[in-house]
Amino acid sequence: MNALLTAWAALRVTGLNLFRAMNTEPLPWHGGRARPERFRTSFALVHNEDGDEACIGCKMCEKICPSQIITVVPGGRAPSPNTGKPRGTAKDFVLDMNACIHCELCVQVCPEDAILMLRVPETPGYTREDLVLTMDKLYKNEPLEKSWGTGARLVGMQEAGQPKPAPKPAPAAKAAPSEAAPPSPEAGS
Ligand code: SF4
Ligand code: SF4
Repeated sequence: MNALLTAWAALRVTGLNLFRAMNTEPLPWHGGRARPERFRTSFALVHNEDGDEACIGCKMCEKICPSQIITVVPGGRAPSPNTGKPRGTAKDFVLDMNACIHCELCVQVCPEDAILMLRVPETPGYTREDLVLTMDKLYKNEPLEKSWGTGARLVGMQEAGQPKPAPKPAPAAKAAPSEAAPPSPEAGS
């Protein structure tokens, strides 16, 4: 009897769910449901306002990445082809997105806002290599829609949330010898 009741309850739940609206989004995504402002998927490397590759090869993103999936090969300092000013460069940059946890720390730590996350996912592939983002691929992603965060914006937000340091107390004024308290009669006893 119990088994029949359980089977009936299960069938009833299944039947009810057949007529409910779908809450999930099928892939590939066709824009059916608005994505949140901070939705982030893939990555891009970008150029700065002078038209140079913004990455200076400082390796800070590589060092902070908890998944250790970023490899940056610095290219040394060289004159910018656009301004002539010497600046750091990156010779190679690889981000293996297979193990990315989307923490955004690489974006937050970048001093040049050179690496950004995208709101557009990579096309699903059949091999692991399909999700290894080379430097070429990362610059090809530059025109795609970016996510909310940049390094400057994320650091600014973090600093705004920090409590202000308490003002230092003014140094206590030394009492004049005549005003000094008389020694306690118990002192030295
Ligand atoms: S992306 Fe940013 S943090 Fe990473 S190496 Fe380039 S400049 Fe440095
Ligand atoms: S978002 Fe991905 S690549 Fe960037 S620091 Fe986090 S794990 Fe590393």
